[in-house]
Amino acid sequence: MAAMELEWDHQGEILVRRRRVGPFDNAAYVVSCPDTGAAVLIDAANEADVLVRAIGDLKLVAVLETHGHADHWQALGAIEAHFASAWVGAHPDDLSMFPPPPPAHHFSHGEIITFGNCQLRVLHTPGHTPGSVCFLGPGVVFTGDTLFPGGPGATRPPLGDFPTILKSIRRELMGLDPTTLVYPGHGEATTIGAEVAGFEEWEQRGF
Ligand SMILES: [Zn+2]
Ligand SMILES: [Zn+2]
Repeated sequence: MAAMELEWDHQGEILVRRRRVGPFDNAAYVVSCPDTGAAVLIDAANEADVLVRAIGDLKLVAVLETHGHADHWQALGAIEAHFASAWVGAHPDDLSMFPPPPPAHHFSHGEIITFGNCQLRVLHTPGHTPGSVCFLGPGVVFTGDTLFPGGPGATRPPLGDFPTILKSIRRELMGLDPTTLVYPGHGEATTIGAEVAGFEEWEQRGF
């Protein structure tokens, strides 16, 4: 599958490169500090060679996993082998879903991840999986499979739960500035403002 070559500059505060990889068309993001070249990879999803090329000369500080579903970590082993100094983080509630050895860094809600002069805040947003997290940056939020254009991610039992994902989205995401750009784990970017409009409807729809 041809990788989409896309990069966005957010007011000079952070740079975001997206690559669409693997059979489930996962969106993986290389987020970097324009001043220092320090970077994090959000979801080592698949096609490690594509992700390594996207990282290029940037200094990879960490791999941040949005959740434990297998399509989001197929390239994790290869990325860890290639960038030996980068740490790997995931939420403790999803650790059992990762292949051994599980990620060594365990996220807590509200934790700040620093790379160069940039920061992302960890938001624990259970519902798609118990340990799903989002990463909030300046004017952007990376939502994994918690929020897509048009609604919340799938909530299949036993790990998924629809009332829980709605509560997470309402508590952590709906209050963000409407212009906040949403970068999901699959598909195209949207904004918080575009998704707020549908919230009541999803709630009534019940899935
Ligand atoms: Zn998922
Ligand atoms: Zn997924």
